[in-house]
Amino acid sequence: MSYRDYLNHERLPHKWCSGCGHGLCLSAIARACDAIGLDKNNAVTVSGIGCWSWADSYLDLNSLHTTHGRPIAFATGVKIAKPELTVLVTSGDGDAATIGGNHLIHAARRNVDITLIVSNNYIYGMTGGQYSSTTTTGAVTQTSSFGHVERPLDICAVAGAAGATYVARGICDNVLQNAKLIEGGMKHKGFALIELLSPCPTHYGRNNNLRRMSDGVKFLHANSYPAAAADKLSEEQKAGKFPVGKLVEIQGVDDYSSAYAGIIAKAREAM
Ligand code: SF4
Ligand code: MG
Repeated sequence: MSYRDYLNHERLPHKWCSGCGHGLCLSAIARACDAIGLDKNNAVTVSGIGCWSWADSYLDLNSLHTTHGRPIAFATGVKIAKPELTVLVTSGDGDAATIGGNHLIHAARRNVDITLIVSNNYIYGMTGGQYSSTTTTGAVTQTSSFGHVERPLDICAVAGAAGATYVARGICDNVLQNAKLIEGGMKHKGFALIELLSPCPTHYGRNNNLRRMSDGVKFLHANSYPAAAADKLSEEQKAGKFPVGKLVEIQGVDDYSSAYAGIIAKAREAM
């Protein structure tokens, strides 16, 4: 097997624009599947709506393409009904953290054993370039022509605060590192979020002086620091920047399906 065996070659080449970061994120998922020797028949990718949601059809796994903002809710249902399945969710910032933000919080709180891979490009790409909850302050989008007034949501911080037991962040061009982060999330028993920062040159980039993919990637690297080196960096060096790498890993918390199985057993005994 190779990571290529986890791609659905009948659906390739993909539809993403030239310079879009989603292809690199897809490669990281396929490599993570290969690294753990994932059994294709016991795995499902659940997605919502958006450019990144096409990832489910490019992976050679079972797939469930759902509605805008709701893939985490559908994935929760799949996991409860069939706890033996490995459940991946591919969802963008608009899908997972704006329309579907409530589902994100509660899946993290419940420790549902799913692996959520958010490709965050700071914008609603497929629906035409409207701002999302992660759009940076001052950014020009289709719905903020004179600059965005809101402050962006930190998806990893929100998931961690809600109780997520595995949280990681990567930048899309670090494919091998991101594959390791996804592999860690898939092996983790409980809710795992991996946020991959990924430029959208077509909508975000062209309106914000980041026209080429390399501009977007350079911008992301210039505004980040390795989480593993956080203790060695001064507050001044970290100011205004975000950490990349593994941010949270908590073992030993019952995942939702296991906890629920215990309640079912108790109820049966009491009958
Ligand atoms: Fe990627 Fe943006 Fe094009 Fe969608 S619109 S495929 S997110 S570059
Ligand atoms: Mg988006």
